[in-house]
Amino acid sequence: MGVMHIPGHTHQAPREVTLEEIRGVLGDCRLCPLCETRTNIVFGVGDPHARVMFVGEAPGRNEDLQGEPFVGAAGQNLNRILAFAGLRREEIYIANVLKCRPPGNRNPKPDEVLACAPFLREQIRSIWPDIIVTMGNPATHFVLKTEIGITKLRGRFHQMGHFRVLPTFHPAAALRNPAWQELIEQDFRMLGEYLATHPAGEAPQSVGASSDALPEPVPGAGEASQALFEGSRS
Ligand code: SF4
Repeated sequence: MGVMHIPGHTHQAPREVTLEEIRGVLGDCRLCPLCETRTNIVFGVGDPHARVMFVGEAPGRNEDLQGEPFVGAAGQNLNRILAFAGLRREEIYIANVLKCRPPGNRNPKPDEVLACAPFLREQIRSIWPDIIVTMGNPATHFVLKTEIGITKLRGRFHQMGHFRVLPTFHPAAALRNPAWQELIEQDFRMLGEYLATHPAGEAPQSVGASSDALPEPVPGAGEASQALFEGSRS
């Protein structure tokens, strides 16, 4: 999949297109059947120049009603554990793979992900964060292009081209499982340690070469990483 066409841009480079422009292209999207059951499109929220971007799966009931990601209990949990990383909500950007709520909070279907993913891809290209934190299996599988479960992937960074990816549990799932809550807090502490010891703007290669939390390649992920940002002129 190539670069989504954004009016006024031909080969948009990282950080070239604004989030407002992408939201404009999204409009009243009816590219998949979820448009029939949604209350609001949940585009994303936060700092458009965030160093850390968080990616979840899809809006839940509260998010659908309010049009904002990670509100309600999951959002409160996220706000609380962000403190372990030394981050505040307004310093990060949060978006989901799907912009509309799947009925009954079921898992996203592959054709829905296919239809909606270009918007997330452009959001990532626009923000161009250093770190992407994927929360839960669907977001992790989309970003890392793997079917490996979150329990095997979490707890370390994975390098995907420009991006350092930290998979962890979804804050809503962690609320239902005390053991996962402990692990997600560990992951956020690790993120905080990384941010504190690696200044913004540091070259990814030199960072990775000396980090204890080195990313390990995910089997089969390399080509997909290319595909994820095909056409980027970084
Ligand atoms: S989920 Fe995405 S692709 Fe489907 S209607 Fe909503 S915005 Fe469009």
